[in-house]
Parts: sequence; C-alpha cells; structure tokens
Amino acid sequence: MTLRADETRLLLIGETQIKLLERLSNACAVSGDEGEVRKIVIEEIKPYADELKVDSLGNVLAIKHGVKEHAMRVMLSAHMDEVGLMLTHDNGDGIYRFEIMGGIAPSDLAGKQVWIGKEHIPAVIGLKPLHLGKGDSLKKPIDLEDLHIDVGPAKGAEKVGDRAVFATKFTQLGPSLRGKAMDNRLGVATLIELVRHAPANIDLQAAFTVQEEIGLRGARVAAYAFNPDLAIVLDSTPAYDLPAWDSDENVRYNTRLGAGPAIYVADSSTISDPRLVRFMIRTAEEHKIPYQLRQPGGGGTDAGAIHKQRAGIPSVSVSVPGRYHHGPASIVRLSDWQHTLNLVSAALSGLTQEVLAADR
Ligand SMILES: [Zn+2]
Repeated sequence: MTLRADETRLLLIGETQIKLLERLSNACAVSGDEGEVRKIVIEEIKPYADELKVDSLGNVLAIKHGVKEHAMRVMLSAHMDEVGLMLTHDNGDGIYRFEIMGGIAPSDLAGKQVWIGKEHIPAVIGLKPLHLGKGDSLKKPIDLEDLHIDVGPAKGAEKVGDRAVFATKFTQLGPSLRGKAMDNRLGVATLIELVRHAPANIDLQAAFTVQEEIGLRGARVAAYAFNPDLAIVLDSTPAYDLPAWDSDENVRYNTRLGAGPAIYVADSSTISDPRLVRFMIRTAEEHKIPYQLRQPGGGGTDAGAIHKQRAGIPSVSVSVPGRYHHGPASIVRLSDWQHTLNLVSAALSGLTQEVLAADR
C-alpha cells in the first residue's frame, strides 16, 4: 500500500514511548562509549528494519525500504552520545582526576553525584570545603583543576578511561519531563518511533550516531555510507526562555518551551537547505502543528558534518527545545516532543521530488 502525500498518521507519545525515553535517559553513553544506548536502539528497531548494521565507529545504521523503486533516500540522524566525564588519573584511595568530554561548565560539576562506567558505580565530584577557603579564594570561579571524582574507598571496578555521567533518574513532572541526556535521547526516541512507522513513499535511512558531542564524528561516516538525497537531523536544542530579571523583554531565547518543534535556519556549523526549511514550515502549517524557528546563531548538530559529505547533502535540523542541557537535568515539554514527532512524520509522508526541484 502506498500512502498518499496528504495521508498522515498521527503517532502518539504514550506510556510506552515515555518508558522508552526513561530507559534511554537513564542509560550512560558518553561519547565513544555508546554501547548501552546502542543495545536499546537495536532491540527496539530490529523487528522493523529491512537492513541493520553497526558500522566500524559504532553508529547504528538501519534502512526501511519504501514500496517504490527509486524512492527518495532520506537520512534521519539522531546522536546517541551525551556529554560527560572521563577518568584520567588514579590518585589512589578511590580518588580520580578527570577530563570533560563535550561541553560541560566546571561550575555545574562541583558537589554533583555521578555514575561511573558500565556498572553505574556511584561517586561524587569533590571540591575543597568552603570552610577551609579564605577571603578571595571563595570568589574565584571553579576550575577543573579544583575538582576530583571520589568513589569512596576504591571498589576495583572503576578504572582510568571509564566515563562518568550525572546521576540523575528520569521523572515526569506533569506536562514536563526531567532527566539527564535529553540532548539527545529525545532525538533517539523520536527516530525509533519513525523507524517503527516508516512511511512507504521513501527509503528511510536511520543513523543513530556516535561522538556528536566531540565533533560530529559518527554522522560524517554515516552520511558517506548512506549517500542520501537529503537529511533531517533530530536533536534537542537549548531553550533560554526564562524571564529577564531586569524586566527587559527576553529576546535572545534561542527557543521556548511549549512553542513546538524548532526548525533550524542556520547555526554555527550549517546553513539549512532553504527548500527543506520552507517544506518543514509548509508541512507544519498544513497540518496545524505548532512550530518555531530556532534563532540563528551558535550551537550545531550532526547536520554540520552531513551537509558537507560527498557532493553536498541538503540538510535541515529539527529539535525539541529543552532547558539546562549539558547539565545534571534538563526540562522539556511532552507536547513539544509530540509535535516534533508529528511534524517529521508528516514531512516524510509528504516528501516528493518537487521539494528539491524548487528554486532555492
Ligand atoms: Zn545534541
């Protein structure tokens, strides 16, 4: 059966999807050590994918073929990794020095509880006690050099090279979801849903990528392997929509919670393909799905690597907005996630060759 372009199925985010996001959020998968999330992804998509493999960097690459021959090849990408820490030196007695992998502010680290390694060994990030500081030393910004990871007396299970993440358990708070690594387990959970309900008019090429947070490394080889006609990147982007305390209007919010999926026009690594931006907007308006344009500026997604692959790949990113990313816990709205899934699903069903044949 071929779906007509205007025939969009509504995919609902319910208990099952939230439970899956919970598992993904609680899993530990700092860049280069994505195994725990990879295992969940494979388990979830295996029954639905026509082809499935793990490439040499650890990306999960899955294809769900459309019913037509020469259907458009559409790459959907979501990174599996999260920012975190790596133990770099054993100081003895369960004390470790560490490095930050990806972007985390050292000020976010002091005093936080973490889980280390595949066994989620509990530990704490220590800082010299305030009581012992003197005068100006209390005012100086926290530096990575001031911090260490303490597992209590060494358990023997942790070692240099192990990753550590914030020890945050996922929770639902009314209309919001709170957890670590929402950037980008939200994208991963969304892509799993899309593989399960792939529309028949396209060849869906799903890339669950590695090492995005340390330089879009997995997406680069995934895009080369897939050689798609176009790419849509699913991620989660910062919402900085808190009130401005000096009573000026906050006009630099990047995105806002509750305003729907954020469509990227440009960020520091990509200028989105204007035909795809217009197509996403048109799709949202036709289907009465709320959306927002992410304010152009800093940040980046896997699109930064994908659009420059081979002879150039038209790309656009769509993100669920979230507050406090790259910290111990993000807050996102369930409704934004739902609308993001609907928008991308409607866009895939409505895709035709004409979208890319249009003027830029
Ligand atoms: Zn991300």
